[in-house]
Amino acid sequence: MTQENNGRPPTTTDAGIPVASQEHSLTVGPDGPVLLQDFYLIEQMANFNRERIPERQPHAKGGGAFGKFTVTHDVSRYTKAAVFQPGTETEMIARFSTVAGERGSPDTWRDPRGFALRFYTSEGNLDMVGNNVPIFFIRDPIKFQNFIRSQKRLAANNLRDADMQWDFWTLSPESAHMLTWLMGDRGIPRSWRHMNGYSSHTYMWVNAADERFWVKYHFKTDQGIEFLAQADADRIAGEDGDYHQRDLYHAIKAGDFPSWTLKMQIMPFEDAKTYRFNPFDLTKVWPHSDYPLIEVGKMTLDRNVTDYHTEIEQAAFQPNNVVPGTGLSPDKMLLARGFSYADAHRARLGVNYHQIPVNRPKVPVRSYSKDGAMRVDNVTDPVYYPNSVETAPAADETRYRETAVWAADGEMVRAAYSLHAEDDDYGQANTMVTKVLNDEQRARLVDNVSGAMSGIDSKEILQRAFEYWRNIDKSIGDKIEAATNEKKAAGVSEKGGGKND
Ligand code: NDP
Repeated sequence: MTQENNGRPPTTTDAGIPVASQEHSLTVGPDGPVLLQDFYLIEQMANFNRERIPERQPHAKGGGAFGKFTVTHDVSRYTKAAVFQPGTETEMIARFSTVAGERGSPDTWRDPRGFALRFYTSEGNLDMVGNNVPIFFIRDPIKFQNFIRSQKRLAANNLRDADMQWDFWTLSPESAHMLTWLMGDRGIPRSWRHMNGYSSHTYMWVNAADERFWVKYHFKTDQGIEFLAQADADRIAGEDGDYHQRDLYHAIKAGDFPSWTLKMQIMPFEDAKTYRFNPFDLTKVWPHSDYPLIEVGKMTLDRNVTDYHTEIEQAAFQPNNVVPGTGLSPDKMLLARGFSYADAHRARLGVNYHQIPVNRPKVPVRSYSKDGAMRVDNVTDPVYYPNSVETAPAADETRYRETAVWAADGEMVRAAYSLHAEDDDYGQANTMVTKVLNDEQRARLVDNVSGAMSGIDSKEILQRAFEYWRNIDKSIGDKIEAATNEKKAAGVSEKGGGKND
């Protein structure tokens, strides 16, 4: 039977050639063998086999949307970056994600949420690869790969494993603050719209007079903080694994555009040397009483993506994308991420990933990079520098001199940060448990932690975990031990995404 197309545009091959049928392969007689010259059939099979690209190593499951960032307050005394000048509006994209789960994993597992932002500024792309948490589990990048492995799957049986998770955490006491946060209410947001985002890392801002400041970005949700209780999150994980992705898509589709207010903590450059703890330690926040929040502007997400693969799966954020007037800091995790993100993009997407439309800056690129797999932009001569071609690009060292810098000196060593008076692992976790949380929140923390720890089989790891919580706060540790033992005795096996075999 002939396929009617009822006036629709004709289907073509990838070469634009109209095809004869999408219902019937070309065969020798109605029952005969399929012919190799049915190129459309071959092309469709070949394309299908190659649809998936490697998922991100952490942060594989996510979604996002486009929007704009508008500066509402004057912070020009802290930064000369064009994107942060009063009244400036900048196009942007945001991607939210879970960390440990794979691409099809449920959105409502207890996990930090990635909060990755790109601002298409008039001075190139500014990226921020933050989380919905202002801190992190570790402070030295040499532990990162092992940390992520411990949260993913065992080699032998490919199962997630509470022993592996808690073994790593309890042998890495710097994780105490982050784990307290994660096991609290905000460890499972109600939706991506109902969570804050943080740069977590300290960055630098530089003003027009070349004065430097250490800064932290806080994107406070205008929707209000809302969270899911563990039992609800577990139920939803079974009913709708894409719960958060669906929520964001439908909110934007209905015109209910989510927004976040950007507020900064700003530390004068010289304060860092004498601050009571190391301000570049990613496991710590700067208390608001020391560095209050300063309002800057608003980010609003108002446009859904139309092709998930090209606009989200291939969105390549990298924290080394800092524009003039912004810069990095001596945070060791940040400096390592500056390499590893771009390297991950080269591995997943190829060396020319910048040319994928979602990654393309909205300003001209004149980098002297050349060729490579899948380059689509034409390269023009000269392809080398220095050159004597007057119209060829040359770095403007007067205007764009490196100003986001700091002094460093000393022997090459492998050591913790240089010590500040109050550097420790448990202090801020204790503040959170004893001063920030109220009684109900503390009770839920005990319930969440004991649920997760009831999956630990090893007596040694279990004991170490009880001590870990007692180091944060004696009373919370004792309660966690009692509740965990109770759940283990009752055979309750709620392990927060970390079930043992
Ligand atoms: P403040 O008393 O000034 O503020 C408390 C902070 O805790 C606010 O940012 C608040 O966020 C946040 N918070 C409230 N409830 C929870 C919760 N259940 N889970 C996670 N965060 C919560 O505190 P300090 O600045 O002196 O810091 C005290 C402690 O607060 C820190 O040790 C840290 O654990 C936590 N904290 C601090 C942040 C900071 O940047 N200083 C940021 C987030 C947490 P919100 O205002 O959005 O409700």
